[in-house]
Amino acid sequence: MKITNASVFSISVPKKSAFAVAYAVRVAAESLIVKLETDTGLIGFGEAVPVKEVTGEDKNQVYIKLKEFCSLLKGCDLKEHPAIMMKAESFLKDMPSACSALDSAFWDLTGQTQNKPLYQIWGGAKEYCLASQSLGILSLEETLSETKKYVEQGITHLKYKIGLDKEADLKRIKQVRDQFPNITIYLDANQGYSVHEAMFVTESLADYKIEFMEQPVAKEDLKGLITVARHSPFAIVADEAIQGMESLDKLLALGTIPMINIKLMKCGGPSKALKMIQKANEYNIKCMIGCMIETRLGITTGLHVAQASNNVYYIDLDGCWDLNFDIVKKDGANLHDGKEFVSLAPGLGVCIDEELLRKFSDK
Ligand SMILES: [Mg+2]
Repeated sequence: MKITNASVFSISVPKKSAFAVAYAVRVAAESLIVKLETDTGLIGFGEAVPVKEVTGEDKNQVYIKLKEFCSLLKGCDLKEHPAIMMKAESFLKDMPSACSALDSAFWDLTGQTQNKPLYQIWGGAKEYCLASQSLGILSLEETLSETKKYVEQGITHLKYKIGLDKEADLKRIKQVRDQFPNITIYLDANQGYSVHEAMFVTESLADYKIEFMEQPVAKEDLKGLITVARHSPFAIVADEAIQGMESLDKLLALGTIPMINIKLMKCGGPSKALKMIQKANEYNIKCMIGCMIETRLGITTGLHVAQASNNVYYIDLDGCWDLNFDIVKKDGANLHDGKEFVSLAPGLGVCIDEELLRKFSDK
């Protein structure tokens, strides 16, 4: 199967409401969509979401380089997927989201060729994952009313962003636990605390049934992260500290951690993510699959990875549910009754609305 055309759409899809984390406020999904056309008529799609604060990438620069790389793909065969990804890694150096979009699009074609959904090709461990919903840093009142709203929708796993003000964080989270004794609480500090603050917050929440806390301290401070993890009464998760395999190896050289948050945009795509999950498993490290503010295309890709392996215990794949428009017009990831699952259509199983891609183009 030969590639006859490879194109990139740069889009900005607005969110219904702004989302504040410790380092930024997000109002839209800022995506690059790769489309691979082939001589068989099959089409593969993949999404890149470059996020400066997380992956160090600039959207416009990634767009230019990705387009340039795509122009070289005409005439390439699907069988060359691994070799093409090796080339992509050097051509798109330090652009993991771009690599992820390409890798995903190639996998989408592979799945369609084999007539199987990707999660089954990759291991097929489960038919769904328990959904979680992230809440940005809000006032106490808003946090409680948003929690109530999601619980009424059947979502019982909620992730609270913290890390700007430890006293306010503690007050909010303790109130949530008191008023919603049965929900599962995830926390994410997005590097907002010092080691000392992180130890204080985790200790203060020892009796509040917290499932885990992501990235309490600066991503460069691996030793600090391991120290917090060792003393915490609940699991500490490395997120920003773990970009790809290289940083996982770096952490493992220093010690261990209970869990890592793998994101396709950080690690360079599904192929890399699957290798990281396997490596983590060898070291008894659990995995969660997270996301950026992505369209349902990227979320679907992450969910295929999550459903593939038993070593993925949690997902945080809610980046698309609050967008004003859905570029996936058929199939793809679904959210129902607190569960997320992909469709059984082959490949990524997404039917993309190209009219919307043109409508939201920012080029
Ligand atoms: Mg996180």
